[in-house]
Amino acid sequence: MRIVPLEIGRLESSARTLTGRDGRITLPIPSWLVEHDGQRLLFDTGLHADLQHGKDRLGALAPHFNPDLPAQETLTARLEAAEVDPGSINAMVFSHLHFDHSGGTAEVPNARIVIQKKEWEAGHRDDLIERGEYFPADFDIGHDVQLLDGAHDVFGDGRVQCIPTPGHTAGHQSLRIELDSGPVVLTGDCVYLEWMLDEMAVPRFGFDIDQQKQSMEELARHRDEGCRLLFGHDADQFASLPAELT
Ligand SMILES: [Zn+2]
Repeated sequence: MRIVPLEIGRLESSARTLTGRDGRITLPIPSWLVEHDGQRLLFDTGLHADLQHGKDRLGALAPHFNPDLPAQETLTARLEAAEVDPGSINAMVFSHLHFDHSGGTAEVPNARIVIQKKEWEAGHRDDLIERGEYFPADFDIGHDVQLLDGAHDVFGDGRVQCIPTPGHTAGHQSLRIELDSGPVVLTGDCVYLEWMLDEMAVPRFGFDIDQQKQSMEELARHRDEGCRLLFGHDADQFASLPAELT
């Protein structure tokens, strides 16, 4: 069993809305490959390959984000560099459906989508689509969809489990993985950066701020019990990761 962190480019943005601090911030955009017993899943799919060439695709969000996606960092290029055929991926588990988490979906032809039902429904709400929060053209493009209502054991053996962590969005979830070296949780956007969990710095925007705080407290409990957390967009932590975790 292994986790391979893949960096699908970066986003540069004002820090204030995301972290509450002044200045600008550059966020790595991860997709996490998880291999277990001959099965392969991706937790999130990163940025859409079109963002190599400009940011028109971001619509209403374009003024707020500067994407940086070199050709060798698209999801396809990253998988090929890891010697993984995108057609061999069995499942795409989504933390949530924001553009920087679901953009590479079109590059993965044969996988089923595994997602909380509440998130799938939110991703199709007209008002949220209109204000640029969701782009169904990124994720609703013909894959089989497995809708979850709460916690879920992905392979049926307790090694990979979806943990609902709502708040950032209506149906956000994190992924807990029992590696041979110990448990790991991929937090997604429940926690962007390590210091934000240390300081319980809850972003001031999101679907439900109170729920978000409760979900952060839940992940802090996992950490207290010896689980390693891999954060959603933490540049320092991401740069420190090995090519694979086993
Ligand atoms: Zn998000």
